[in-house]
Amino acid sequence: HQPVHVIGGGLAGSEAAFQIAEAGVPVILHEMRPVRGTEAHHTEGLAELVCSNSFRSDDSATNAVGVLHAEMRKAGSLILRCADANQVPAGGALAVDRDGFSQAVTAALEAHPLVEIRREEIDTLPPAEWDNVVVATGPLTSPALAQAVLDLTGETALAFFDAIAPIIHLDSIDLSKAWFQSRYDKVGPGGTGADYINCPLDKEQYEAFVDALLAAEKVALRDFEAKTPYFDGCLPIEVMAERGRETLRFGPLKPVGLTNPHNPEVKAYAIIQLRQDNKLGTLYNLVGFQTKMRHGEQVRVFRTIPGLENAEFARLGGLHRNTYLNSPKLLDGSLRLKADPRLRFAGQITGCEGYVESASVGLMAGRFAAAERKGETLPPPPVTTAHGALLAHITGGHIDAAQEDGSEGAPQPGPRSFQPMNVNFGLFPPLDFTPKGEDGKRLRGTEKTLAKKRALSARALADMAGWLDSPVAAA
Ligand code: FAD
Repeated sequence: HQPVHVIGGGLAGSEAAFQIAEAGVPVILHEMRPVRGTEAHHTEGLAELVCSNSFRSDDSATNAVGVLHAEMRKAGSLILRCADANQVPAGGALAVDRDGFSQAVTAALEAHPLVEIRREEIDTLPPAEWDNVVVATGPLTSPALAQAVLDLTGETALAFFDAIAPIIHLDSIDLSKAWFQSRYDKVGPGGTGADYINCPLDKEQYEAFVDALLAAEKVALRDFEAKTPYFDGCLPIEVMAERGRETLRFGPLKPVGLTNPHNPEVKAYAIIQLRQDNKLGTLYNLVGFQTKMRHGEQVRVFRTIPGLENAEFARLGGLHRNTYLNSPKLLDGSLRLKADPRLRFAGQITGCEGYVESASVGLMAGRFAAAERKGETLPPPPVTTAHGALLAHITGGHIDAAQEDGSEGAPQPGPRSFQPMNVNFGLFPPLDFTPKGEDGKRLRGTEKTLAKKRALSARALADMAGWLDSPVAAA
């Protein structure tokens, strides 16, 4: 076979290269470090962890990232194998010795007979003779390559420096206080007039909420991030609050066009809205709540909102530089660029978030690329698996409203504000049955939630095994 080229030896590129080589296809891995560095990497090791040393929960029975770990182990993942071999104690989390981990990944790829590693920056689109390429250059893709991809796709922004808003699991929202309604009951395309969830604040609650925002601890921007502008029209909520005590009440929290059915006589002083975030309707994001408050502070402050006292967060807000593609628009179902299908993308640049997610997208991209080289067709993993759910989110399975300013409107499918996301159960299709207790009784509360998660996990692992065992078809 002719080699597959992988650009970027981070979490995704290392896994992709390994999967390709293990499939019997030669691979050339191009990594620019140490010839050229990034703002966050410190070493020349492959799969360097730039920040925390945690791969998060390893609980494959009730945690979505734990399910992703288990699926990757089944698929013979290099990243998981090296993480397991370099584990440090961290409760239920899979945390690693970062240097030992990176050295193990580097050594395994250097020793693989089908892998060649070239230390060089790829600063233009790959030459025409590279007919099968995986681009896995991460959130800190070097500017020259980023620009080349930008020119090819014709997108106005490949990278933006964005604040992201928290996302909440619907089943943790208290609908005896909150209610479904679109502003002025407006029915948009595909909407019902009741597409938003609304949380009412009285004057006292509003004032206390503004005080809490102003007092909360914020994340200090790293130097390189401080130089980048805020994403237009996407100011952090605490920055809006600093501009005046009424700013939020006349902005995203305006209490107009909405009536609280739990208390129709009393007009709310301010209203916080949540908007459907995924096609399944299991996740809702806080409209206008992009923030750089510390994660612990976000949970504390946002749980003071009536209706969100027990909110479970699928993702917390944050502000960082992020280079990623508008993947739902630009990529096909096997992660190939529609405009130039010899280029396949993997890792954080596709719009997943996190080390494990990036590696898992690398795993899929590697398998797709190897199958293509061998003249085979590999279907995507079932959407009931953690891999399949993540892939569906990236390649088009999400939904988001057209409005970025928190104004009214129904959620509509569309890539306009596609945002990076960690894997979570909200991305999985719901169960087609209700789990019961051992005695056949109905479950409630935490018991019910745990039983659902166990069933989703078991279904994912069984379906992943099926995908890995299924024969690939000749193309
Ligand atoms: P990377 O791991 O960054 O790998 C990309 C590789 O491509 C790098 O080795 C780079 O040197 C190389 N490269 C770039 N351009 C070129 C080029 N033109 N030619 C050749 N090589 C190139 N995730 C977490 O789960 N936990 C965290 O704590 C965390 N903290 C983060 C902190 C920061 C500052 C940033 C930016 C991200 C953080 N992330 C974190 C997200 C994290 O970057 C990703 O989860 C993960 O590293 C992405 O994997 P990747 O393989 O896509 O990119």
